[in-house]
Amino acid sequence: MRVINEISSLTDTLRAYKFENKIIGLVPTMGALHNGHLKLIDKAKEECDIVVCSIYVNPTQFNNSTDLEKYPRTIENDLYLLEKCNCDITFFPSDGEMYNDEARINFDFGKLGKVLEGEFRPGHFNGVGLIVAKFFNIVQPDFAYFGQKDLQQVAIINVLIKSLNYKIQLKCVPTVRNKQGLALSSRNMRLSDEGRQKALTFYNALTFAQKKMHEGAPVDSISNEVRTLFKEKGIELEYFEIVNKDTFEEISATEEQKNIAICIAGYLEGVRLIDNMLLN
Ligand code: AMP
Repeated sequence: MRVINEISSLTDTLRAYKFENKIIGLVPTMGALHNGHLKLIDKAKEECDIVVCSIYVNPTQFNNSTDLEKYPRTIENDLYLLEKCNCDITFFPSDGEMYNDEARINFDFGKLGKVLEGEFRPGHFNGVGLIVAKFFNIVQPDFAYFGQKDLQQVAIINVLIKSLNYKIQLKCVPTVRNKQGLALSSRNMRLSDEGRQKALTFYNALTFAQKKMHEGAPVDSISNEVRTLFKEKGIELEYFEIVNKDTFEEISATEEQKNIAICIAGYLEGVRLIDNMLLN
């Protein structure tokens, strides 16, 4: 595996592969890798000739400086894991390499960018759009891999690809969970053992809501029960929403069950956790 820190070196390396018509896959990450990230790499390895994994804690997508400061950084272990799963290139740039001028381009993702994560993390999707657009321009991949764990992000990237006419196929990889159901997340590293146990409430709420939706229970009553559950557990619930999985708008009465996503976010031990489940 090659570890590359500079954009010019990465583009030079990729030019040679492109000349040979190799299929390039990109897996953008912020590091502190776990099996969820590795699933994306595995999928990319299956479908591409050359897999590029980027590791970059992107400051422009953090709306909270403490969150950015406390974001886990485990580069040695990340490189070990990526080597083990035969990743071809790790791109590990510095802040200066990624943001070498004062310009900060703004995106408007419409309603999609203003609800749920967009509402509670102002500026987050703009930062995501900015860094992903940079990676797309630098790597020019054939395929780009993102996790369902960040479902609204997938919808945002979909808009980015369509709006900016990227010739990139977006691949959404299902969420990897631990045996008990907790969605793997780099932020879980900041939880105590007790916190990790308590964090299962997110998964329990989603499976409960999924079952109730299948039984035809009204959204309001499901939502109320989830709120009560979080109160009982002493976990701060930021949002619990049942939405269309592409637009993230509230679901209509005629919504096809397969288009529905149940989304949740909250704080536990000062750590922000998000999760979601599709209805089908
Ligand atoms: P992050 O490093 O948290 O920015 O995540 C990098 C990519 O990995 C994103 O596309 C995430 O959606 C994806 N990802 C994170 N956690 C998981 C998980 N548990 N299962 C599948 N994909 C994940």
